[in-house]
Amino acid sequence: MGQHFLLSKDARDLPLQKVMRMTEPGAYRLFKRARWPLTNGEPVCPECGNVRCYELARGRRFKCSFKECKKEFTVTSGTLFASRKLMFRQILAIIAMSANGAKGKAALQVARELGVQNKTAWLNLMKLREALAARRGNMLLDGEVEIDGMYLLGFVRQENRKEDRVDRRTIETPQRVVVMAVRERGWRGQTVTRVTQSENANCAWDLVKSHVSREAHVYADEHLAYDELCGLNPLTRVNHSKAFSHGEGVSTNIIESFFSRVRRSYRGIHHRFSVKYLDWYAAELAWREDLRRKGNRRLTMEMLVRSLMHPTSRNLCGYFQGNKPKDFDFVWRG
Ligand SMILES: [Zn+2]
Repeated sequence: MGQHFLLSKDARDLPLQKVMRMTEPGAYRLFKRARWPLTNGEPVCPECGNVRCYELARGRRFKCSFKECKKEFTVTSGTLFASRKLMFRQILAIIAMSANGAKGKAALQVARELGVQNKTAWLNLMKLREALAARRGNMLLDGEVEIDGMYLLGFVRQENRKEDRVDRRTIETPQRVVVMAVRERGWRGQTVTRVTQSENANCAWDLVKSHVSREAHVYADEHLAYDELCGLNPLTRVNHSKAFSHGEGVSTNIIESFFSRVRRSYRGIHHRFSVKYLDWYAAELAWREDLRRKGNRRLTMEMLVRSLMHPTSRNLCGYFQGNKPKDFDFVWRG
């Protein structure tokens, strides 16, 4: 029996103390290298792509030398961390802390560990989730792919007295949503998630059509939502009322293990995801699942690079001035 990855030395190649001991100029250099990898950290104009930019006298601001452009910018201009208030080192610490939580990281915990306000920690963690969720755009799974759905929200508390209780299976709650996901088997297998209002055929069709190669073999359970998929891809069904696995790889166990990470995160780390951001939480956990055997240096750097490649958030920019997404903005409707 092999050692669990998280117990190995490879899992801890970036201790938090190393981040905390970093100087602010050191963290700034890291941001520059992550933002402009092709020039090894030398500024590139975000407007016209000109590499001849000079630093202004007050420091950390650049100006494009191209006469028709003359754009002024910083290392975070036009990225998720635009108009940041935290120091570079603090942002890096939040990312590193987030990387260390296999099931995600709670904002309250980051706030305490770093000594920042809860809303600051929350907003920065949310930005990371938005950046990770954006990776789904061009993901295409191949080989053997499993599809399934998981109901997560819509919990109704039982009444105290027995005569007041209702059969919870029969009530429709307005907040009831489902996470649908496709996951590729194997070490490099990736996971794509989508949040929708019921486990339905349209969503399953669109998910497989957009994110699964036509050659892949799809495994699904007996739910009606997956009936039509045989028109898209080779399809094998697993009858869960008889057995969870029919041998020879006929099962949806791989995707179930992703869903169990989501459930543990929901109950153990966040104690609840709001409907509003469930899509981002699910996508974040899919990313964690896919990179579960990578060291925390890799996770930290990938989150940093993804946030610096992501344009300024239309969903979170000016959040505390009242710019908030609505409850079902990120729920797929087809
Ligand atoms: Zn320019």
